[in-house]
Amino acid sequence: MIDTKDLGFNSKLIHGGGHHDEYKAATVPIYQTSTFRFDCAEDGAACFAGEKDGYIYTRIGNPTVSALERQVAELEHGYGAVAFASGMAAVSTVYMAYLNAGDHMISSDAVYGASRTMMEGHMSRFGVESTYVKTEDIENIKKAIRPNTKMLYIETPANPTMGITDIEACAKIAKEHGLLLVVDNTFCSPYLQNPLDMGADVVLHSVTKFINGHADIVGGIVIAKTQELYKKLNVMMLNLGGNMDPHQAYMVIRGLKTLAIRIERAQASAMKVAEFLESHPKVASVTYPGLKSHPQYELGRRQMRGTGTMISFELKGGLEAGRKMMNSVKLAILAVSLGGVETLIQHPASMTHAKVNAEAKKAAGITDGLVRFSVGIEEVEDIIADLTQALDKI
Ligand SMILES: *Cc1c(COP(=O)(O)O)cnc(C)c1O
Repeated sequence: MIDTKDLGFNSKLIHGGGHHDEYKAATVPIYQTSTFRFDCAEDGAACFAGEKDGYIYTRIGNPTVSALERQVAELEHGYGAVAFASGMAAVSTVYMAYLNAGDHMISSDAVYGASRTMMEGHMSRFGVESTYVKTEDIENIKKAIRPNTKMLYIETPANPTMGITDIEACAKIAKEHGLLLVVDNTFCSPYLQNPLDMGADVVLHSVTKFINGHADIVGGIVIAKTQELYKKLNVMMLNLGGNMDPHQAYMVIRGLKTLAIRIERAQASAMKVAEFLESHPKVASVTYPGLKSHPQYELGRRQMRGTGTMISFELKGGLEAGRKMMNSVKLAILAVSLGGVETLIQHPASMTHAKVNAEAKKAAGITDGLVRFSVGIEEVEDIIADLTQALDKI
C-alpha cells in the first residue's frame, strides 16, 4: 500500500488512514461489534496491559472508527485523533480532559451556543472559570489572562458572526503564557485551514457539518498535536463514553471522500450569493470572508485556503423581516446545521443562540435581523432565485 503521508489533499481523502482488511475490501468495512475475541487468556491480558495491539471493546477502540481517526489526524497534521458521538461530546471531552478545578479558560464570545452553555452552566459547577471576549482583537485576549488561565479556546470563523481570529497570534500568546490553544475548526474543515500548522495544540470538528457533509449523521472529532495530549484526550473519551460508533464512522468516511470537491463548488456559489446579497436593497450588511468588506478580509486570505461556504447577513427589517424571510424560502431548507450538500438557512437569535442571554448575544454581535446561510451544491442560479423571491416578500 502507498504511504499516504506524501499525497495531495484529494488523494488523502480517498486513500488516507491506511486500513488493512483481511478480505482486502476496497473500502473500510463496518465492524459492527461491541466486543472482540481474544485468542487466549494471555492474549487478552497482553491487550489490556497495552503490551500488544489489539481491539478489546468498541468504546475503547474499533477498526472502522480507528480508520477515520487516522485519516483525519493525517488531514490535520496531528499526532492522533479521537472520534466522538457528536461535536458536543468532542467539545465537552476537551474541557474535561484538559481543565482542572480552579483553572480559567478564555474563549471567543461568538462560539457555538452549546459550547458556551457547557462551560458556563456545567464546567463552572466543577470550579472551572471562563471569560468570553472578542478574540478577533488580540488585545482582548491579553487583557483577559489571569494567573490561573490554562486554555485559550477559539472558533474561527466564528459562529454565526463569521468573525476571524488570528490563529498564529493566539499561538504566540498561548506559548508565552503556557496556555493550551484549542481551535474549533468546524467552519473551515481541514480543507481550508490547518490550525496545528499555525501553532494550535488541539483542533476539533463537529463532523456533522463539512466532514460528513450530507446532513445524515451527527459526530465529532478531536485532533491532538502530541502523543501526550492525545493520551489525555483518549483516556477521557473512554471514561466519559462519548465514542463514535462504527456505522457512524463508516458514513463519515464515505462523506469525507468528496470534502474538497463539495467545498470547491459550494464556495464558488457562496461568493456569487454574497455579492448578490451585498447589492440587495433589503439587506443591511453581509459578512463573508470572500468579500472585501469583511472586517478581517486580509487575515482571512492569509490564514484560510479559501473563503468557505458560510454567509451571515443582516436584514434591514430586524426580527420581523428575519421571520418573514425564514417563512418564504422554498429551496433553502429552514434548518440549523451547516456544511452539507443542501442549502440551509437559519435565524440564530431565535434558534441556535436562543439560550444565550440577551446581553451576551448583543456583545457577540448576534442581532435580531442576523440570518445565517449555508450554501450547498445546488445550481447557484436556483439559490439566488430562491433568495430573490424570499426577499421580495419582506
Ligand atoms: C455544530 C457545531 C458544534 C456541535 O456539534 P454537534 O455535532 O452538533 O454536537 C460545535 N461547534 C461548531 C462550530 C458547530 O457548528
